[in-house]
Amino acid sequence: MDSSVPLSALFDPDDQEQLSYGIPNLCAELESYLDPSQIREVYRAYLYGAEAHEGQQRKSGEPYICHPVAVARLLASMRMDASCLMAAVLHDVIEDTGVSKEQLAAEFGEEVAELVDGVSKLTQIDFSSHAEAQAANFRKMLLAMTRDMRVILIKLADRLHNMNTLDAMRAEKQRRIARETLEIYAPIANRLGIHHVRLELEELGFSYAWPMRYRVLKEAVRKAMQHNRELVSNVEMAIARRMQQEGIDGTVEGREKHLYSIFQKMREKSRPFSEVVDMFGFRVVVDKADNCYRALGMMHSLYKPMPGRFKDYIAIPKSNGYQSLHTVLFGPQGNPIEIQIRTRAMDRVAKYGVAAHWLYKESRREDKLVHGGANDWIKDLLEMQQGAGNSIEFLENVKIDIFPDEVYVFTPRGEIKVLPKGATVIDFAYAVHSDVGDRCVAAMVERRFVPLRTRLYNGQTVDVITKEDAHPNPGWLDFVVSGKSRTKIRAHLKNLQHRDAVELGRRLVVKALRALNQSPEELEGPRMDVVLEAFHVASTDDLLEQVGLGNRMPLLVAKQIAEKGADTGAKVPPLVIRGTEGMAVKLSKCCKPIPGDEILAFFSPGQGVVVHRQDCRNIPVSHKKGEEWLDVRWETEPEGEFTTEIRVAVSNKRGVLASLASHIADVESNIENVVVDEKDGLSTTLLFTLSVRGRRHLAQIMRGLRAVPEVMRIGRVLR
Ligand code: MN
Repeated sequence: MDSSVPLSALFDPDDQEQLSYGIPNLCAELESYLDPSQIREVYRAYLYGAEAHEGQQRKSGEPYICHPVAVARLLASMRMDASCLMAAVLHDVIEDTGVSKEQLAAEFGEEVAELVDGVSKLTQIDFSSHAEAQAANFRKMLLAMTRDMRVILIKLADRLHNMNTLDAMRAEKQRRIARETLEIYAPIANRLGIHHVRLELEELGFSYAWPMRYRVLKEAVRKAMQHNRELVSNVEMAIARRMQQEGIDGTVEGREKHLYSIFQKMREKSRPFSEVVDMFGFRVVVDKADNCYRALGMMHSLYKPMPGRFKDYIAIPKSNGYQSLHTVLFGPQGNPIEIQIRTRAMDRVAKYGVAAHWLYKESRREDKLVHGGANDWIKDLLEMQQGAGNSIEFLENVKIDIFPDEVYVFTPRGEIKVLPKGATVIDFAYAVHSDVGDRCVAAMVERRFVPLRTRLYNGQTVDVITKEDAHPNPGWLDFVVSGKSRTKIRAHLKNLQHRDAVELGRRLVVKALRALNQSPEELEGPRMDVVLEAFHVASTDDLLEQVGLGNRMPLLVAKQIAEKGADTGAKVPPLVIRGTEGMAVKLSKCCKPIPGDEILAFFSPGQGVVVHRQDCRNIPVSHKKGEEWLDVRWETEPEGEFTTEIRVAVSNKRGVLASLASHIADVESNIENVVVDEKDGLSTTLLFTLSVRGRRHLAQIMRGLRAVPEVMRIGRVLR
C-alpha cells in the first residue's frame, strides 16, 4: 500500500459495511498514538482478515470479521503496538480459515505470524471437559505456553468480546463459558494487573454463571448504595476540601462495588451481606508520589485509622506492578472506609497492568503524541520507575514471575500433569503412577509413536503403553529429569539386585540341603524360625540374600536347617552357571571365562559368587578367610552373551580393521572394544573385546579371522 495516500482515502464514505464493523472508529483510535504507516498496516491486516473470513458468520448473525475488529478496538484502547493490533485483527484466521502461519509470515512478517499462532494454540486447548479443580493448572498452562505477553492480551480481549456477545448462545453454553471465564481468564487478567478487563470479565461471568444470584445481589447493592449515598458524598466532600486546603492537586471518588467480589467475599469468608456492603471504598488520585504520603497523613488526621490495616505498595509494589497506599479508616458514623491513594501513573498501571508498558515503549519512540495527558503519564511513569529500576527490567521480572518454568501435559483422560521443564515421556509415565513408569514400553504423543526419551511440550496429550512384565531400563537415568523417576528407577535396580541374590542363595541352599539328604521344602518348614534367629535375620529371603551375596556359606545354612552339627561328609553337587544369574554371579574380569572353559568359583564376602577359569593365574593359592570354594559347571546350553578377549596381529594395510570387523559381524558376534596393543612399521597388534556365546562360537570367529590374508597371528588372551 502506498504510504503517501492519506488515511481518509482508505475508506469509501459510502461503504456501510466498514462503518458498521467499526473500522473508521478503530483507525481514529489508532491515530491518537500510532504512525500513519502503522495504521495502514493494521488496515491491510483487516482487509486480509475480512477476505479470509468472507461468508462466515457469528452466532449473532453478524459477519465474522466484526469480532476480530472489536478485539482490536479493545487492544487499541489499551494502546497496544501495531503488531499486536494486526495479530488481533487476524487472530482467528489460522484456526477458522485455511490460512497457514507461513502465509501470514510472508504477508505480515514473522512477529505477527508468531502472535496469531500463539493465540491459535491457546484456542485449541479445550477446557470444557475438565474438572474445576484443575483451573489453577490451566491458568499456569496458558501462561507457560506463551513467551510473548501480547498473546495473552489478545486472548483476554478475545474472551472479553465473546463474553459481551454471549447472548447469542444457548443457556447451557453460556454457563460453561462464563464459569471458564471466572476460573481461568479473570484470574489471569488479575495476575497481569489488568484491572478493568478483570472486572468486566467477572461482572459478565457472574451474570451468566449465576443469573439469579446476580440479579438479587445487584438489586440489594443498588438499594444499599441509595441508602448510603449521602454518607459517601459527605466523605468525598470532606476529603476534597481538606486536599484543597493542604494544596494537594488531586481527585477523590467513591469506588464502585463490584458484584462478583461481594459474592466471593460472602461465599468464601461467609460474611453477611450487610457487613460486606457497608464497607465503603474511596480512591484518591494525586499528581506525584510525595503527595500520596501527604494525602495519607491528612486522611489519618481527618478520620481515625484502623490499626494494622495500612499497606505501602508504593515502596513495595505488588508483583504485577501495582502501586498504591491502602488504609482503612473509621468513617463519620463509625463505618469502616477503605482508601486507596496513588498517582495518575500508578492509577494507569492499576487499570492496564502489564499492558501499560507497551504504551511507554511505543510513546518513547514518538514525541508527537496528540493527547497532552499521555505526555504527563510518561513523565509520571519515568518518575515512578526511578524507584523500581527501568521499565524493561521490570517487565522481565514480571515475566519470570508469571510464566512458570514447568511443562503442563494431558493424560488421555484430560487430567493435567505438571512436570519440570525438559521432562520426557518416562518422567510423565512416573508422574502418572510408579507402576506405569516401571512397566512403560512405548508411548504416543498426540496419537503418534515417539521414542521414550522424547521431550514434552505444553498442551500435548501423552499416552503411555505398558507391558505387565516390563522393567525400567538403567539407561533411562541418562535423560529423565524429575526426582521421582530417578528415585524409582534406582529403587528398581536395587530391588533387582536383591532378587538376583535371593534367587541364587535359594539355589545354593537347596543344593546343599539335597547333599544332606534333606528336602528343599525344609526352607519353608517350621524349623526356619529357629534358624533365622540363630543367624540373626528377619526373613528367609534375607538369609538367602546373604548366601547369594557370598556373606554366608550355603552348607552351613543347610546344616543349621537340617540340625546336623559337624557332619561334613556330604558332597555338594556342582552349581550350574547359566550366564543369566544377574548381579549375584560375577564372571571374573581377569580371565573372562566363557561356556566351554573349565571353571571354578568361590564366594567372596559382599561380592557373591565369582567364577574363574581353572587356569587363571589370579586365583589365590590359599583362599582368604571367609571365602569358600565352590564346585561349578556350565549349563549345557547357556543363555546370554559372554565377554572374552582376543589378540590379533595384522600387517599394516589400509582397510584391514574394516575387514576384520566385517568377519566378526558375519558370525554374529559384537565388538565391545578394540585397542591397539603394539604397533611398528610393519605390523599392528589389536586387542578385541568380543561378546560370544561360548568356546565353539569363539573358535568359529577365530577361524574366520585367520582367513583374512593380513592376519599374521591370532590367539585368545589368557591373563
Ligand atoms: Mn476470537
